[in-house]
Amino acid sequence: MTKLKPDFTKGLVPAILQHYKTGQVLMLGYMNEEAFNLTTQDQVCWFYSRSKDRLWKKGESSQHYQHVVDIKLDCDQDTLLIQVKPDGPTCHTGSISCFNHDRPFSIESLEETIQESVNSKNANSYTNYLLNEGIEKITKKYGEESFEVVIAAMKGDQHELKNEVADVLYHLFVLLHDRNVTIQEVLDVLKERHHKSGNFKGERQDINNW
Ligand code: AMP
Ligand code: ZN
Ligand code: ZN
Ligand code: ZN
Repeated sequence: MTKLKPDFTKGLVPAILQHYKTGQVLMLGYMNEEAFNLTTQDQVCWFYSRSKDRLWKKGESSQHYQHVVDIKLDCDQDTLLIQVKPDGPTCHTGSISCFNHDRPFSIESLEETIQESVNSKNANSYTNYLLNEGIEKITKKYGEESFEVVIAAMKGDQHELKNEVADVLYHLFVLLHDRNVTIQEVLDVLKERHHKSGNFKGERQDINNW
């Protein structure tokens, strides 16, 4: 990495933290020259806290250090974009990002939502209730919801079907979390099958073997 020279002549420099893999915006903090030098030295993010009026090593109490993968400057050298690998939730609320309301919803983000419930340790969270009860409760709920999908499909009630499929997906993600399987690993299996057959023939062969 060539030596970056942010422009500190106008004061503090804002630093945007971005997840190095997903590109998700995680937080914004301010750096003075000392915080920037410590960041490049330690390869974890340091900031100048305006509220505490002192240097602040992000993670100093939470241990959720933000490891530097890459640092970029904007066009006029007064804003930093730092790609990081977080040790834990970047926001002090337990959220993955300080800007969660901006998070685009995707089926994969269900995984993050579940992780965030766990991080929050919120006793009123249904997700935490299910995970504390354990795999028997989770599989029982998953089975019930699957059956409700079957009923809705047979009835031909689209509204009910959508809701029951949503219930199945949610419980499926809780189940995967409990069993330590990521959705990416599931998608990899699908991708592999697709590569082999081009049209999911691999899967159909499985079905013929039943
Ligand atoms: P940490 O640096 O993670 O050990 O957190 C220590 C304190 O810094 C927290 O209690 C918050 O006051 C503050 N803090 C941590 N993370 C953030 C953040 N993403 N945005 C604003 N303040 C934060
Ligand atoms: Zn600029
Ligand atoms: Zn935050
Ligand atoms: Zn249901």
